[in-house]
Amino acid sequence: MEHVQGTAPEPPHCLFEPEGDHPHSRETLLLFRDNERLCLLNRYPYANGHLLIAPVRHVHCITDLASAELTAVNDLLQRATGILKKELGPDGFNIGLNLGHVAGAGIDDHLHYHIVPRWQDDHNYMTVLAEIRAIPEHIEKTFDRLLPHFQRLHRTNHSR
Ligand SMILES: [Zn+2]
Repeated sequence: MEHVQGTAPEPPHCLFEPEGDHPHSRETLLLFRDNERLCLLNRYPYANGHLLIAPVRHVHCITDLASAELTAVNDLLQRATGILKKELGPDGFNIGLNLGHVAGAGIDDHLHYHIVPRWQDDHNYMTVLAEIRAIPEHIEKTFDRLLPHFQRLHRTNHSR
């Protein structure tokens, strides 16, 4: 019916607001969502297991977050890093925030953190130099490995 009724073009959907209210979705690579924060597996990763953590609310800047949202997002950053450590065993991480296109944000208008696992012998420097991305594992396989950990987190997420 949507196809019959809808004639006006929809504005492009925000990547950080996957449709519906499901806590996870393989189609959109959504690993976790509750009322305040969500975690996506990056479809265009710099490394295997590259995660994106965002508030549910469409806000532009870290200064727009309420204190409780900031706490919730930080909590998920910590838990998601723990899940990557346990499941993928990287040697280190780059965790960070790009605010504004000038700072390297691909999507400027919905605040999101990157968690990029790093391995001793990875070739991440190549992405900076030549946009060559060497991803050893298929994205959906990584999703399936990480999802049970996030589902467990959802079940123990009593306070939200
Ligand atoms: Zn958004």
